[in-house]
Amino acid sequence: MRYLILSDIHANWEALQAVRAHVRRKRFDRVVFLGDAVGYGASPNRVLDWLRSLGSTLAMVRGNHDRVCAGLDSAEHFNRYARQAAEWTLSNLEERNLEYLQSFPTGPIDLEKDVAICHGSSVDEDAYIFSAYDAQLAFAATSQQLILFGHTHVPSLFMLREDNGKQTLRVRLLTGRRLVLDLDPGNRYLINPGSVGQPRDRDPRACYAILDSEQRRIYLYRVIYRASVTRRRILNAGLPPVLGDRLLYGA
Ligand code: ZN
Repeated sequence: MRYLILSDIHANWEALQAVRAHVRRKRFDRVVFLGDAVGYGASPNRVLDWLRSLGSTLAMVRGNHDRVCAGLDSAEHFNRYARQAAEWTLSNLEERNLEYLQSFPTGPIDLEKDVAICHGSSVDEDAYIFSAYDAQLAFAATSQQLILFGHTHVPSLFMLREDNGKQTLRVRLLTGRRLVLDLDPGNRYLINPGSVGQPRDRDPRACYAILDSEQRRIYLYRVIYRASVTRRRILNAGLPPVLGDRLLYGA
């Protein structure tokens, strides 16, 4: 099975459109979404309409912004800008999209026998996996060989190897326009494909990945999109300007 992997779209329609154009000639059977469809950006209805149009070909988990923007949780633990954006999103969602957002499932969920998906970590959808310690907790909470996660908006890989009872954990940032990773059957992996709509690794290009689960191979891509258009849309919506500015730098 081949999966198109998307994470952290954050209501950025232009980035999503660029990714869709980029994958047009690529083959995939299903779309996998790792959470945070909305929040920060100014196009929540378009993004949710598109996700919903995928029907049963879509496998997904909700993100922390999805939960708050759907009114299922308070925004009090968000910073000022995220809170303002969540309030704006909740009041601008069309009824059908609010209901859809409220129905997003909580992760982790199994994609197939040895592959799981989650938003933050397999321990907690709000937890971040930045360090080897964070990764250890996530590996310990699951048994799958591959766990796909989002939330940090940083394309990254954690690899757990066991040799004669001795565990070693490797961390790698995944940079570049195109990257191919072959998964070694003896190792376990936590992989973040990066964010479609708000990259934070100082590279403003949209991120996505394709997983070939039979070949145990992952392709990661970066795609240029017109972030200046997205920024203008954010400013016109009256959202905090910093949410538009950061897209120009990938910060
Ligand atoms: Zn996010």
